[in-house]
Amino acid sequence: MQNTMQSMPFDGRALINGKRVAALDGQLFDCISPVDGRVLTQVARCSAADIDAAVAAARAAFEDKRWCGLAPAQRKRVLIRFADLLQQHGDELAMTETLNMGKPVKYARGVDVNSAANCIRWYGEAVDKRYDEIAPTPSTALALITREPVGVVGVIVPWNYPMIMAAWKIAPALASGNSVVLKPSEKSPLTALRLADLALEAGIPEGVFNVVTGYGPEAGSPLALHMDVDCIAFTGSTRVGKQIHVMAGQSNLKRAWTELGGKSPNIVFADCPNLDKAVEAAIGSIFFNQGESCNAPSRLFVQDSIKERFLEKALALVPGYAPANPTLPGTVMGALVDQVQMKTVLGYIESGKLEGARLVAGGEQVLQDTGGCYVQPTIFDGVKPDMKISREEIFGPVLSVLTFSDAADAVRQANDSVYGLQAGVWTSDLNKAHGVARALRAGTVHVNQYDEDDITVPFGGYKQSGIGRDKSLHAFDKYTETKTTWIRIDSPV
Ligand code: NAD
Repeated sequence: MQNTMQSMPFDGRALINGKRVAALDGQLFDCISPVDGRVLTQVARCSAADIDAAVAAARAAFEDKRWCGLAPAQRKRVLIRFADLLQQHGDELAMTETLNMGKPVKYARGVDVNSAANCIRWYGEAVDKRYDEIAPTPSTALALITREPVGVVGVIVPWNYPMIMAAWKIAPALASGNSVVLKPSEKSPLTALRLADLALEAGIPEGVFNVVTGYGPEAGSPLALHMDVDCIAFTGSTRVGKQIHVMAGQSNLKRAWTELGGKSPNIVFADCPNLDKAVEAAIGSIFFNQGESCNAPSRLFVQDSIKERFLEKALALVPGYAPANPTLPGTVMGALVDQVQMKTVLGYIESGKLEGARLVAGGEQVLQDTGGCYVQPTIFDGVKPDMKISREEIFGPVLSVLTFSDAADAVRQANDSVYGLQAGVWTSDLNKAHGVARALRAGTVHVNQYDEDDITVPFGGYKQSGIGRDKSLHAFDKYTETKTTWIRIDSPV
């Protein structure tokens, strides 16, 4: 462990206009590893003046068309090279992510690096296969409906999947010809900076992809409020997402896209086709990434008649998720991102106990002697819909188990949430599966599984889980303007 970290020097400077730079006022902040509490490096603490410089560089690059002026096939080649470089540096990027935010290195390499690279490649490949439109107008005119890049795109992302969240936004934005200013979370800035290094190496021109590091109010707000940013694409909490829309309205009415929190229900009917699979998915999905997933199925609804059997099987799986050093290849549950998040999670566990839920697994901080942030996988049984652990997003390895009587009861309880990101349904009855899936107010519904995912499908939520969709061809809509051009045809024949 010590050797791995010593052999990895991290450059915490921002990347503006193709150069690694310190914050203009020289401010820095410590980048602390949740694996064992050590300082990995110091990172540029950017503020409004740095954001101005990054936006000016992005604007200049957009105006002189060094990127948006390239043929789509040329942008495609560069983006595919960029994706290839991510794969070539995959081991380094994965270990950096693990040290920075605590996820197991086997998933950082197998999921995060692969998904980010695949996303960049997919949008690169898509961009020279999209056609514009001609409207069905009378023959005396021609109306062209074309898509154009919006200009300068600000991107603000969270820390739970730092590379994937960045890739979901920068890939369609860059493929469309925009310039980008990315602000990663202050908790996980290191891989975003490396992505920008690799983008330059791949041939994305200077100024087109900038990364500014720092805290939300100091670096994120100036980006969201900036008068020369045309679009802000945000992933993070619902609390900050609401502020992003306000900031867009207070400034230049920039397009604002928000992908926010979740409290996803997972409904298991007694006629579930394979109970063991349902148990594995319920447990595996809530504890994956230490429970720090926006779409984690954190509310498990089990039909009354099978609840005890389901819980018994679930409890048998919990020891397999014991937290361990995430830099070790066999670890499946790593560290929470930092002390603050760990205290938040432990606070929710206390509230569950106080409100009368029955703690049946975990509930404790562990591995304190490491100096890292580790919490046991935790399950509460007997949770009631009005309890805090059933209503609020915990963003940690805590599962709330509730029961229901029939399909109508399940749907009513599942939809009783301010969130609507994802949902799961387990049943052998096709009619019930379709009916419940339609009735659920969620952006994605999983039937008889909870882990299907692909870059080809939209990802996003209903209600306060945000607006807009990442991934798929739909994401291009966020980063392009629609223009109509009318041409009069005075036909001589
Ligand atoms: P957060 O809202 O605290 O921070 C997200 C980003 O916003 C960070 O970069 C942060 O620095 C920045 N920020 C904070 N305050 C800001 C401000 N005043 N102005 C501008 N920027 C500001 O969220 P987090 O704790 O980093 O991430 C966890 C949240 O992200 C969870 O709610 C999770 O569900 C959500 N999330 C959603 C999706 C999705 O696709 N829907 C995906 C991943 C995570």
